[in-house]
Amino acid sequence: MSIKATIDKIVETSKADINEIVEILSCDNTDYLFKKANEIRKKYCGDEIHLRAIIEFSNYCRCDCLYCGLNRKNSFLSKYRMELDEIVEYAEKAYKNGYKTVVLQSGEDLWYTRDKISYIIRKIKEIGDIAITLSVGERDYEDYKQWRLDGADRFLLKHETADEKLYNYLHPHSSFKNRLKYLKWLKELEYQVGSGFMIDLPGQKLETLAKDILLLKELDVDMAGIGPFVPHPKTELRNSLPGDTNLTLKVLAITRILLKRVHLPTTTSLEVTNIKDRKNAFYTGANVIMRKVQPYKYRKLYEIYPNPNLKDIGIKEERIEIENYIKMLGRKISDTRGDAITKSTSSIC
Ligand code: SAH
Repeated sequence: MSIKATIDKIVETSKADINEIVEILSCDNTDYLFKKANEIRKKYCGDEIHLRAIIEFSNYCRCDCLYCGLNRKNSFLSKYRMELDEIVEYAEKAYKNGYKTVVLQSGEDLWYTRDKISYIIRKIKEIGDIAITLSVGERDYEDYKQWRLDGADRFLLKHETADEKLYNYLHPHSSFKNRLKYLKWLKELEYQVGSGFMIDLPGQKLETLAKDILLLKELDVDMAGIGPFVPHPKTELRNSLPGDTNLTLKVLAITRILLKRVHLPTTTSLEVTNIKDRKNAFYTGANVIMRKVQPYKYRKLYEIYPNPNLKDIGIKEERIEIENYIKMLGRKISDTRGDAITKSTSSIC
């Protein structure tokens, strides 16, 4: 089959196997793939781009992820924790500036007990109709259950890589099997679930990326964060090369044509690796973008990887900037919460 025929088949059937995905990933001519991904995005998600506010509220982490600057062995990083009411205050500022989703992200920091996170969720829910996405890593089932009852809507927990051996090497404190168990719990609890993975982790092959995409399909995720790996100088992977952004766009595009309704953000790691490809991502399947809203003094310490684009800019100014950017792309700014796109809410149904 020609590449074009393989792409058409995936568009038509929403099915693919590893070999077909590897074949598309290996092909240098991306014109048809990108064109199709853009068409599918328009058909199923419309022209709206969803803006999410992210509050990175603590950089303490109990984990040893080999790629991440927050890992507990990195003693060069100054640590911070935002107060509970401070987090709520910034969620309110985001809401007042037009954000309808707030993503609460942190390292795995057990200082924030089940009750503390419950308090934050309930307080934020009092502000208005604002969706809450949690991204706080692996916790007890009872924690996830309570937070869902408190009103948390979504949970973002990336599977990082679908290669079990590579996953276990990169995460000495946990295991791939565990990760899948947590993702299953989150589904069971009826969160809108986000997963995702990194492109060009050392040791990764195109087959791995094909498995990553197929795992998203199998998990039936509502959102997927897919971005290039960015080496951090104070981690074990400091000498590895940054991820290829063109490969990232191809992976985004295949994910779009296979999963159709999934929310796909342009990630910060893509902006950091090649800012020009942020625009391209919006033409190869992406329909979401996140902006940091916590104070700058915290932004610069949430150093998963070095980010030279970080600016000391207020929430309002940044919101205006991103709105202008979206208009410049000829796209619309969504005024909805941007919940999971289902058959009944999709623009074609
Ligand atoms: N503790 C939370 C949040 C983790 S940080 C959790 O476990 O889910 C958020 C994401 O940043 C990770 O899921 C990972 O995909 C990404 N990330 C971390 N280090 C990175 C790096 N060096 N390059 C690219 N992405 C990275």
